[in-house]
Amino acid sequence: MNKSKPILDVCIIGSGYAGLNAARILSSHKIKAEIYSSGYGASQLWAGTFDFLNLDNFKHEKIQNQLEILKDLSPLHPYRNLEYDRVKESFINFSKEFPMIDLFIKDGEFMNKNVLTLIGNLKPCLGVWKTVFNEFESLKPNRIVILVDFIEFNNTSMYLVKKSLEVKFLCEVIIIEISFFELTTLCIDERENTYLNSRLSETRIGRFFDKHCKDLKIFSDFIITILSKKMENSQIPKIEAYLFPPILGLENNIEIIDQLTGLLKKPCRELVALSPSLLSRRLENSFKEILEERNFKIHKPFTLIDIEFNSCQSRKIWILTFKKRNEMEVKVKAKNILIATGSLFSTGCLESSDLMKKTFNKINIDLSNQPTNNFELVHRNSDKSHIYLCGSSIYFFNEDLTDEDEIKFFTGLGLAITTSYNVANFIIKSK
Ligand SMILES: Cc1cc2nc3c(=O)[nH]c(=O)nc-3n(C[C@H](O)[C@H](O)[C@H](O)COP(=O)(O)OP(=O)(O)OC[C@H]3O[C@@H](n4cnc5c(N)ncnc54)[C@H](O)[C@@H]3O)c2cc1C
Repeated sequence: MNKSKPILDVCIIGSGYAGLNAARILSSHKIKAEIYSSGYGASQLWAGTFDFLNLDNFKHEKIQNQLEILKDLSPLHPYRNLEYDRVKESFINFSKEFPMIDLFIKDGEFMNKNVLTLIGNLKPCLGVWKTVFNEFESLKPNRIVILVDFIEFNNTSMYLVKKSLEVKFLCEVIIIEISFFELTTLCIDERENTYLNSRLSETRIGRFFDKHCKDLKIFSDFIITILSKKMENSQIPKIEAYLFPPILGLENNIEIIDQLTGLLKKPCRELVALSPSLLSRRLENSFKEILEERNFKIHKPFTLIDIEFNSCQSRKIWILTFKKRNEMEVKVKAKNILIATGSLFSTGCLESSDLMKKTFNKINIDLSNQPTNNFELVHRNSDKSHIYLCGSSIYFFNEDLTDEDEIKFFTGLGLAITTSYNVANFIIKSK
């Protein structure tokens, strides 16, 4: 064992949004914490909405009411431990450091609101990346919405968006198809253009817009030229908004959307993807920027393969063994463990429920016991194990909850943010 490694206050396992949010909060209180993670999880697949809770028959109701209804509907749900005030506090704390996410609030209370997805359906959620369209009140008969798509993706889903908007809001929708290759020919030299277009991906498009975010006039002129072939001049003032797939930049997306809005003189917005998209990369990068500024360490790819404890100390010190691919094992000592390993991509000693039970039995934790109200696992000899759960790993650790329960109530990113906030604060107060 590497004796020179200091004992951490908290070892966070998992670098999804639950682990990253816990890291953000602990590091802001100067708690000695580090993340060890195998790397890939559901967070990398995040489609782009901030889902907290959406019970079928209560769409658009206040989140507070939904939370109360859920506690009756599903008494074992991880939200059973969260009072609305604690939920609200976690969202307020999150939105202070992530102003690029719009959380929907009415009369001071958090609400679900619809956003438009790339297949044209309206998805209720608590919030969304700031550049995503949700101003449906502006869509009226006689008004025109322009959908801008890139032909290289051969993506016919814009026709679904068109149909949906026309049926729901009786507005006119015009799709314009742009060749990304043609656009880039106007902006960059031939060599760079061939390279960029040789393996075109959303990331490459995003990076192209980041690089040219200060000068998007060529792009807006390009759109106007194509539009002028499709529309009469007299129709132009009827345009209400320009909608794009969520590929306009990885780092400078808000600036890009603001610039385009200024150049096209109408709101420019993005649609929510229903598949992995740049929206997830943007949120992950925003977390990493905050953590890098605080010199917070994230170790990847390290997979947890065992947990032991050192009983010689007055307080138990956990010893975690991680394996880095084919390299040697690494031991990490910590006073508290925060398990943020999700439910879909658990690996190592958390890969199956049998392996988990074996691992935790060995350290006197019976997983058939429900965790405490603070999401702490219960030790056989005392309430306090100093091993906490957050994010969707809470489902995985609860034998009485099924995969279906996780999907049924739309508790994605909201669960990751609220539980990690509450657990991190509990650890800070207990220190
Ligand atoms: C396709 C898809 C789309 C989604 N879209 C949305 C959406 O639009 N809105 C929404 O609110 N929610 C959405 N969700 C749900 C949301 O993404 C998840 O609920 C959330 O990201 C879970 O975060 P987490 O940190 O709890 O888990 P994860 O993101 O799964 O993170 C777990 C982490 O633990 C690591 N790990 C696992 N085992 C070990 C181990 N033994 N040792 C070390 N590290 C380990 C993994 O590598 C990973 O880094 C979506 C989910 C999917 C699958």
